[in-house]
Amino acid sequence: MKEKLLGKTLEELKAAAGACGLKPFVGKQLADWLYVKRVREWDRMVNISKAAREQLADRYELGTSAPEGTALSSDGTRKYLFRVANGFVESVVIPDADRMTLCVSSQAGCRMGCRFCMTGRGGFHGQLDAADILNQFISIDGPEKLTNAVFMGMGEPLDNYDTVSRVIAVLTADWGFGWSPKRITLSTIGVLPALQRFLDEQRCHLAVSLHNPFPEERLSMMPAQKAWDIRDVLRLIRQYDFSGQRRVSFEYTMFAGFNDDKRHADALIRLLRGLECRVNLIRFHQIPDFPYGCASDQAMEAFRDRLNNHQILCTIRSSRGEDILAACGMLAGQHSE
Ligand code: SF4
Repeated sequence: MKEKLLGKTLEELKAAAGACGLKPFVGKQLADWLYVKRVREWDRMVNISKAAREQLADRYELGTSAPEGTALSSDGTRKYLFRVANGFVESVVIPDADRMTLCVSSQAGCRMGCRFCMTGRGGFHGQLDAADILNQFISIDGPEKLTNAVFMGMGEPLDNYDTVSRVIAVLTADWGFGWSPKRITLSTIGVLPALQRFLDEQRCHLAVSLHNPFPEERLSMMPAQKAWDIRDVLRLIRQYDFSGQRRVSFEYTMFAGFNDDKRHADALIRLLRGLECRVNLIRFHQIPDFPYGCASDQAMEAFRDRLNNHQILCTIRSSRGEDILAACGMLAGQHSE
């Protein structure tokens, strides 16, 4: 199998050009075509001579691939299905008034096994490489329109942190996408110590899947709580500054009769007290063979108001793409017509 160019740093692209007997500036041209112009074919790299392109193509592949399927929601959200070495992954593009956000997958499946999540239920099929992840940015319709990215698709990004970190480097480098880290949010269940590395090394926003303030109850829904206790995750987060450019938020999916009452709101307030953060309440989208339904609007509003009254900024997140199974927790990477 040929080595992929997508995902390489500028220095690595120069070295790749050098390995074909080409000048280092060809590496810069490759970075420009892949990351700035975001093209998917050798033929379009017209300022690289045909002979040089052929030499490169003998040794490398670009690492781009077109989606194998798309679905459009009535709310404008679009879901893409990409083939990767170990199966399929999905990405979701969510248009909003002034932004276009990509919800990107970082693994084929997931080994965290959260009971409410279709990805978790499908098991783990393998890590994505940097090309697989960056291809999701490049091979959608109108990639130049993307303004933001959230690592909230399939997989736990901190279970593939070295690769995700490489992708963030490409996204934020001058020779790469040139994005500010403020345009990127990484969502995690709290994989320690990769979380510590992320907080030390990156300036992107952090979102933590919390879902229940009581450790035993959280464990019943999220097996990873056993390895990485949410109280330890909070202890670590409190060591960093979130009062400036970088923000931390907590995702809280609302299940009727499981985590939606005053007792849970009060425990959450105690857990987060004094931390500069936001809580996003998420509507649960029913999946088969799951004992809980979504909390009522009334319960969600009361929960939100209680947090806000205790100086914890809390909003109910609007749900997008439910009709095409693209909403939170619904990505399954299924290959369908
Ligand atoms: S919610 Fe996230 S961490 Fe949990 S199983 Fe689903 S993809 Fe994995």
